[in-house]
Amino acid sequence: MSTALTEGGLRQMRPGSVSADNPSGLASPDVALGSVLADNPPEADAVGLYVHVPFCAKRCGYCSFNTAPLDDGAMARYLEALQREIDLLGALAWSPRVRLATVFLGGGTPSLLTAADLAATLDRIRARFTVTVDAEITVECNPESVTREKLEGYHAAGVNRLSLGVQSLDDSILPRLGRLHDARGARAAFEAAREAGCVNLSVDLMYGLPGLDLDGWTRAVDAVLDWRPDHLSAYGLTLDAGSLWGAAGVDGLPTEQTQLDQYWRLAHAATVQGLEHYEISNYARPGFRSRHNQIYWHAAEYLAAGPGACGFIGRARYANVKATPRYCDALAGGDLPVASVEHLSPRQRLAERLILGLRTADGIPATWLETRIGGDRHLRRRIETWRTQALLVDTGDRIRLTEAGFLLSDALFVELL
Ligand code: SF4
Repeated sequence: MSTALTEGGLRQMRPGSVSADNPSGLASPDVALGSVLADNPPEADAVGLYVHVPFCAKRCGYCSFNTAPLDDGAMARYLEALQREIDLLGALAWSPRVRLATVFLGGGTPSLLTAADLAATLDRIRARFTVTVDAEITVECNPESVTREKLEGYHAAGVNRLSLGVQSLDDSILPRLGRLHDARGARAAFEAAREAGCVNLSVDLMYGLPGLDLDGWTRAVDAVLDWRPDHLSAYGLTLDAGSLWGAAGVDGLPTEQTQLDQYWRLAHAATVQGLEHYEISNYARPGFRSRHNQIYWHAAEYLAAGPGACGFIGRARYANVKATPRYCDALAGGDLPVASVEHLSPRQRLAERLILGLRTADGIPATWLETRIGGDRHLRRRIETWRTQALLVDTGDRIRLTEAGFLLSDALFVELL
């Protein structure tokens, strides 16, 4: 869902997509930039692929993602362009040696895709790339846009993981967010996914919402945990630039202390239910960590397709043009729709690895942190303070943040940049 490395902390982090406020997505595609992919072969032989679906039935008040209403014909034009992009990516000289270990369709609302359109997209990906037999293939779904039949079609097309955007189970809060489902619809979508054969099912929730008190949050957490999801993502509301609420503000936000209480309530309840808190905002049953998101957190490589999607290949981070019409025009002209490229210096790359790795319960190799510290005595003292305050702990040859450290990670990460 959002992208900037400096966001850190408890904020949503989905580096594959460009948020509306990211200026890199505003530029026009550049043919020369498109060659960055040809010139930067991946270092790994297996990478991920993020596919951005840039449409929603309605814009949520808090949302800053790259999405627009679904106009007549827009989906067909987008799908045609996407197939061209997949073809161009697959035709890169290094593509035959690279396998796709994960495919993640995010948005926007990917579940606006019909089962037939989704199957055609996955078929095109398989025709142009070697997709590993055990590849994790995820689709983000909104409850109101799925049925058992559609999800059976997704399953038949090879989708083996669904991420359901529930966000809240409070029927007085959901319309205020701009969501189109109610609590009953969220539960029905979850059950439809199970009935359709989904054995790897994730639920997204949000806390810190206007009108959400601790009791209401506790009820939502307990209800969702009763559903027995395999994975749970929970993000605190942020008023991002580019969102309606970021521009106009919103009333009724809970206090910072209530938001912290909500964070801890979930962390405790999820752990009691046997879910591992494996990343700041993510919990999983054993064996059900999101493999695609772990590519981001390991600062590993992934391709991107779709308007505004961001990828990281070789040493280059790149972003596609954000506006869907211009994205389609670039591909109609035979060009990859790359709008911006950043080549990371070794120091930037190390900082990314540290910050992303410290978001996870596995942490980072101690040697990475030692390399970053070097002769920086101020940073060494800060890290010793974090250890003393039990924000950071050593586990063998690795270092990780504690639960309390997760909460303060924004401040910690700033020091590491
Ligand atoms: S459904 Fe998701 S992507 Fe679409 S507007 Fe709402 S939060 Fe944003």
